[in-house]
Amino acid sequence: MKNLNTKSTISILLIALIPLVHCFGQIRLNDANENWLQANKLGLEILKTCKKNHGDIDKNDLKIALSIICKEGKNRGQSYEALPPYQHFYIKRDFFIDRKNNFEFLNQKNPFPGFVFEDFSIVDKNEKRYYNKFSKSFFEINSVGFENYRHFPFRFLKLALENPGKVFYVKELNHNGEKLHEILFAGNNSFKLLISSEENLIRQVETFVTNQPYGDGTAILEFRNYQKVEGLSIPSTIISGSSYESWGELFNVYEVEILSEKEVKIPSEKSRKSYRDVKSKYRRMAEVVKLAEKVFLIENISENTKGDDYNVLFIEFQDYILVGEAPISNDISKKAMRLIQQTIPDKPIRYLLQSHHHQDHIGGIREYIAKDITIITTPGNRQLFEKIAKANFKWNPDSQAKDPKDLSLKIIENRYTFSDADIEVQIMDIGPIPHAKEMLMAYIPQYGILWQVDMVSFKEWGLNIGPSRILKERIKSLGLKVKLMAGVHGQVMQGQALKKYLSKK
Ligand SMILES: [Zn+2]
Repeated sequence: MKNLNTKSTISILLIALIPLVHCFGQIRLNDANENWLQANKLGLEILKTCKKNHGDIDKNDLKIALSIICKEGKNRGQSYEALPPYQHFYIKRDFFIDRKNNFEFLNQKNPFPGFVFEDFSIVDKNEKRYYNKFSKSFFEINSVGFENYRHFPFRFLKLALENPGKVFYVKELNHNGEKLHEILFAGNNSFKLLISSEENLIRQVETFVTNQPYGDGTAILEFRNYQKVEGLSIPSTIISGSSYESWGELFNVYEVEILSEKEVKIPSEKSRKSYRDVKSKYRRMAEVVKLAEKVFLIENISENTKGDDYNVLFIEFQDYILVGEAPISNDISKKAMRLIQQTIPDKPIRYLLQSHHHQDHIGGIREYIAKDITIITTPGNRQLFEKIAKANFKWNPDSQAKDPKDLSLKIIENRYTFSDADIEVQIMDIGPIPHAKEMLMAYIPQYGILWQVDMVSFKEWGLNIGPSRILKERIKSLGLKVKLMAGVHGQVMQGQALKKYLSKK
């Protein structure tokens, strides 16, 4: 009886509760539903007005010339040293858009440590080309694209309004004494827009990014002092900031100037003709090439068709494999590991040689750390690599985030030789050079193979530029007998081409 009573009491309670819970759930869900719809509607309304105020950068009769200059910039990803203070640099981009004549021009001057990348692109009815002044080469492109306006507010409005279901109003807030609407774009690349309630113009964009290899972080663009030109609202000052746990915080300030058409110096057709054509299919696509017994190069692992590519070196020892460089991303590292294991199935990768600390060269380093592979590097990179190994990858967890391993480093000061009965590999720090304070390269004396990074990019860069001249000096002073040269960029160089390069002063 007692049992029955207890049971029925519970049943009664449950029966009584069911409608309540049900009802409670329904009420909250309806509210939430209504709230989301309202937030979406309100967000879109604000963005539509905002777009009107910003003007249309795609409008048919737009003709505008602009210049965006960063006088006191810091290029952290390509800095001279791994840790701050980072060197100052200067960047300048000139734009010219003439929609009526379907013409767009961009000129860019971007100095890297040791050399200046200067390039321009032209998009019109007759040609869609990207010219690289540094390498005196050009290739065909589909469009200059919004990438060139990445510092301007237009592309965020465009992206949000093209995906209206992903826009949500969050709240109104006070920022430096100004009332702002906060709007969330919850698309593939999520960002937050802060829009001035009074002017109805974008004041700030905040994006959330997982950077490889630096981890989770935030990037901010702040737009100040809007000016009206050709029906567009253009900020006079753009502050670009980013913050990653393993990299620190950094701000660059850009000034925007309105130019006259004449001030944008578009290279003449004659000078354009002097550039050589980069044929998109001249490169191998992630193909393993045997350079000598036990020495291999994965050529163009990035499968780039535009000539700006990456190669990965691997050397087979009796008990293990040594890999040269983890460029771009973890996916590229996974691809490299797959190809290495296909070529040499029965040996583990034990070492990853990192030439220097630049972002594009260490983008895939965490995949190696996660596999307990020892990183060969120089003393100046220790702290950065330790931070990278422990960086947060919560938004997009990678192998190291899912199953973290302790970082294992082999620090090379000056020189170190890896050898067994079959092969000897000499690793040497040839820094300081203008491109980086510390720079490792590898030399295999029995074959005269030299692996170098960012100094010669054969068939991509010219061979009479700063870094390649310095490499020539180092080869001479170290007394290396180079018969074949491979690098992280460009094609393998040997035979007549190599002789010519080495003998020319
Ligand atoms: Zn570099």
